[in-house]
Amino acid sequence: MKKVALVKYGEVALRGKNRRLHENKLAGAIKAKLPDGYWVKKEQGRLLIEKDGEDIDFEKVIRLIRHTTGVTGFCSCIQTDDMDIECLQKIALEYMLDNYGQRDKITFKVETRRADKSYPFTSQEISARVGGYVYDGAGNFVAEMRFPDVVLHVEIRNSAYVYAGTVKGVGGLPSGTNGKALLLLSGGIDSPVAGFLTAKRGVRLDAVYFDSPPFTSARAAEKTRDLAARLALYVENLRLYTAFFTPIQTYIYENTPPGKLNIMLKRAMLAVASKLGEKLKCHGLVVGDSLGQVSSQTMESILAINSAATLPVYRPLSGMDKAEITEMARRIETYEISIRPYEDCCTVFTDKNPETRPNAAAVSRVERRLADLPDLIEKAIESVAVTEYGRVSDGA
Ligand code: ATP
Ligand code: MG
Repeated sequence: MKKVALVKYGEVALRGKNRRLHENKLAGAIKAKLPDGYWVKKEQGRLLIEKDGEDIDFEKVIRLIRHTTGVTGFCSCIQTDDMDIECLQKIALEYMLDNYGQRDKITFKVETRRADKSYPFTSQEISARVGGYVYDGAGNFVAEMRFPDVVLHVEIRNSAYVYAGTVKGVGGLPSGTNGKALLLLSGGIDSPVAGFLTAKRGVRLDAVYFDSPPFTSARAAEKTRDLAARLALYVENLRLYTAFFTPIQTYIYENTPPGKLNIMLKRAMLAVASKLGEKLKCHGLVVGDSLGQVSSQTMESILAINSAATLPVYRPLSGMDKAEITEMARRIETYEISIRPYEDCCTVFTDKNPETRPNAAAVSRVERRLADLPDLIEKAIESVAVTEYGRVSDGA
């Protein structure tokens, strides 16, 4: 008998022929984050984490692997090869006392799954016998079938498992099962959340930051590096590319009529990101736009900006409002980094009256007059520097 962790993964199980590939990816992603001596085993639609001949340290394991996408939940679980009903009863009572023994009164029920149909009792009989034993064994446990505080699970498979309570996982799909995207990562609140939502769908990510020294500070670049390191918890390997944007920004500023500055800058970012993304074999770009949030994120502005991209541009925050985005940023622990108090764009470049409904044809005419821009875009791509964030993990 020993303590193991059970890893549940809802969506993967639905994925027909890809199922084995997804399970292998998930098992690999988890194994890579665990220290030596821990094993990840596949067992009938779940993964088990166990340690050679010893109990696992559940808290420690969860700290290490809680960011793994594709996992719906983690359960601390007792595994036993002795599947006699008396043994299951004792384990169940001990589990309940360990986890809920301190409370005055707690309602519970037992739910049994029996994959091994040769077991001498039916699922209902096992639930009744185990439930009765737990009820008799401690004064504070009260049976409640409809709305119990605790559901104690008993599963009879190749071994038997007893557990209750689930620590919620990130959900989504395992990293590396759904192509690759290049995230345009600024130091703000929105783009890290957009990156997280994309990573959650199993998409591998690289990120690009457009750096405009001396107009943007070294601390702004550092902030982006810290954000990239946090995002790297959710993806297989993440590289942050820093592109030197000052020459483009200055040139556009000096040659663009008032009102269109933001649009032209965003177009240049998408143009550079597309070329870089193609070089990196990405299937799309990701930005942190939320519809209507600022002047460059109206439907008309996005129409005028988007044609500069040659890869599909994903905007996973389109339908979210600021409060929802902020809440998610807190949950994924990027918020505290994003709000560090330094400017990420010099006021020199702020457009006093940005157009909110630009005309796409007029934007194209302005851009055609920017004769040096294609050359500056090429140079920006050549200038790119890379930082790697593979296999970053926090906790122990
Ligand atoms: P964020 O909170 O992500 O900074 P924002 O609300 O400030 O977004 P914008 O400044 O319009 O909005 O930027 C929209 C998107 O463009 C960002 O979410 C990001 O994807 C991209 N972006 C903007 N500035 C940069 C930059 N310096 N480097 C990389 N990407 C950028
Ligand atoms: Mg911003």
